[in-house]
Amino acid sequence: MEANPPWKCDQCGHPINSVEDGWVEWLNGSIAEQWEGALRGLRLVHHKPASPNADQGGCYHDEAYWFAAKRYTVSDLPLTSFVGPDGLVTLLAFLADRRFADPDEVLELIKRLHVPNYEGARNSFEAAIAEGVFEPRSTPGYYDQRELLAVLNWINNEQ
Ligand SMILES: [Zn+2]
Repeated sequence: MEANPPWKCDQCGHPINSVEDGWVEWLNGSIAEQWEGALRGLRLVHHKPASPNADQGGCYHDEAYWFAAKRYTVSDLPLTSFVGPDGLVTLLAFLADRRFADPDEVLELIKRLHVPNYEGARNSFEAAIAEGVFEPRSTPGYYDQRELLAVLNWINNEQ
């Protein structure tokens, strides 16, 4: 399946315009911590050469800060590792092995990368529902294509 750029960078907020321009990173808890729930802070950011802040270290987690503050280390992989069927399975394995303290972080990234029209609509659900754009019938954040397209159309008409 095709990936659907652009994505909004979780650090700088600017668009990530291609799979090659994206990077996925997360924080790894201290070695004293148990295996399950040791990971957190999963996010999608610019690959450094594509970052608007490339000359100031880019959009990556600040490794020195996280180690000093919490003894967390930073793990990362290129966005190419998370797209297509193999990328989806990698993300499903993140859920299966329960290493992330908050599974919603993994579920959100799965939707952003693998559900068409989700990324463009995701920050407007509450506003769109308040405006009556669609009537939510499912778990919040788990909307079908018709609902996502209604939100995107509403966003486009608002501009
Ligand atoms: Zn960025």
